[in-house]
Amino acid sequence: MTATSFHPPQRILMGPGPSDVNPRVLEALSRPTIGHLDPMFVALMDDVKSLLQDSFLTKNKLTMPISAPGSAGMETCFVNLVEPGDTVVVCQNGVFGARMKENVERCGATAVMVQDDWGKPVDPNKLEEALKANPDASIVAFVHAETSTGAISDAEALVKIAHDHDCLTIVDAVTSLAGSELRVDDWNIDAIYSGTQKCLSCTPGISPVSFSEAAIEKIQNRKTTVQSWFMDLNLVMGYWGEGAQRSYHHTAPINALYGFHESLVILQEEGLENSWARHAVNHEALKAGIEAMGLGFFVDEAYRLPQLNAVTLPEGIDEAAVRSELLNRYNLEIGAGLGPMAGKIWRIGLMGHASSQQNVLTCLGALDSVLTNMNAKIDSGKAVSAAMAAFS
Ligand SMILES: *Cc1c(COP(=O)(O)O)cnc(C)c1O
Repeated sequence: MTATSFHPPQRILMGPGPSDVNPRVLEALSRPTIGHLDPMFVALMDDVKSLLQDSFLTKNKLTMPISAPGSAGMETCFVNLVEPGDTVVVCQNGVFGARMKENVERCGATAVMVQDDWGKPVDPNKLEEALKANPDASIVAFVHAETSTGAISDAEALVKIAHDHDCLTIVDAVTSLAGSELRVDDWNIDAIYSGTQKCLSCTPGISPVSFSEAAIEKIQNRKTTVQSWFMDLNLVMGYWGEGAQRSYHHTAPINALYGFHESLVILQEEGLENSWARHAVNHEALKAGIEAMGLGFFVDEAYRLPQLNAVTLPEGIDEAAVRSELLNRYNLEIGAGLGPMAGKIWRIGLMGHASSQQNVLTCLGALDSVLTNMNAKIDSGKAVSAAMAAFS
């Protein structure tokens, strides 16, 4: 068999991530590869760190990208902060809280679970009760923006409760960074990780992380060595750290970091708060269209994520067939429900570069047309004009 080059189609990515990548990022990726200890590259690393501090709204010195996807950022936080025998309170209201529990247990620690229904935010009162019942807990972990359901939790309030009980906090901000208000320093978050392929609209495979002074102190005073060599921050700091000698730890994904840097430059040009506002405006227009069609949302308006819209299905419709039609006819990708939500919702992402007026109207028009052709019980032909009215 003769091998041929792979040429992917041009899709519109409106699922739970990856989101549409800005063409400027794709162009940056194809620039010449240089050595990872080249002084020009070292200067780029410094730039990436400072742009990342701006996007997290933090002055934390230990702010950098992990050379692996969001899940590795998650694992970096857990393996460095959690020691065998520790008790960690994990708040779960969707898929990703379950992964936190896995991480805690694999660190040889005990996870105390605080459960909330899928689609609801984490309940601060339940966290408070769990901390009162478990005075030996030393860490609280939760997901800020649950991508599996489209619900946002009150990170500031949860961190405050954790600190009142002398716990450090680990926050998953994979989907919230650049899409929803997030203030690492003002909210006193101790350890946070994100991803590049959601609201930053970069290619997948990098995970920005940031650690407070209190978190660093805990890491430096561990009784045991971190079980992961690659993720041990004591070693990574020698490569990415402040004034570090940039001693070889691993080869940074050089071109991927060109792309990531470009995505952070684009965010700075727009302004972080403007990015939050754009996500909110496009969500409002999508909502107007979805409701005009007669469809609804899974999550209550008060804690609905603008960048991840969980939309309920019309009766008797095969949701997977709708997604295939959208992909095959319109090159448009939306996401399916996960876990208990499988077959019950679609997840329509409006993340980063994909959060645009053009995509809102394209998605509503395509969905309206596909559902109308399937004789779904919807109000046909109204969605696009409702969204246009919301925009004007
Ligand atoms: C996507 C996502 C992750 C995992 O990120 P990967 O880059 O896929 O490893 C973790 N947490 C949340 C909330 C996510 O949305």
